[in-house]
Amino acid sequence: MADAALIACHECDLLQREAALPRGGVASCVRCGATLYRSHPDSLERTLALTAGAILLFIIANSFPIVGLALQGQVINTTLYNTVHTLWDEDMKSVATLVFVTTIAMPVLQLGALVYLLVPLRIGRVLPHFELVYRALHAAQPWGMVEVFMLGVIVSLVKLAHLAGVVPGIALWSFAVLMLVMAAIAATFDPRAFWAQVEALQ
Ligand SMILES: [Zn+2]
Repeated sequence: MADAALIACHECDLLQREAALPRGGVASCVRCGATLYRSHPDSLERTLALTAGAILLFIIANSFPIVGLALQGQVINTTLYNTVHTLWDEDMKSVATLVFVTTIAMPVLQLGALVYLLVPLRIGRVLPHFELVYRALHAAQPWGMVEVFMLGVIVSLVKLAHLAGVVPGIALWSFAVLMLVMAAIAATFDPRAFWAQVEALQ
């Protein structure tokens, strides 16, 4: 990088030249010390690997029961999708929509966007409309709320435990791990590395 790009500090607006960082290094503003950017070694490869893991977890989380309730000798199992369906049928349409959007639609959008952007990049290509997909990925991030969902499920399970036998299902554990993997993706994905690779191709 002979002709280093300029970067403005997001805290104090000071313009400075970007410098190449050592592995795991952090660039700080010379005036106010704010973190400008950090080096994420192998950011895109790691993000891709985590995305593959997240997709697998997401499929398991949606195919198996979240929880089984043992009531009067009967065990009722329910998956996430069934729950959304039941809420809709019980005329709790806004809750059903919220659960669907935050725990199914947004994770699908996020993971789909990552695959669309990173898999072709791995073989040195970018697909059409990738800027739009990149923007969608950013827009989806605050709406994916797997962790809020987990908290809600745990609170309800504790309450339900007084009324019925609660059997946590495979999907519940998958959701718990998915929550961690999604957080790891957010921490690993480095937009700077992404755009640097895209620019190198064009
Ligand atoms: Zn600064």
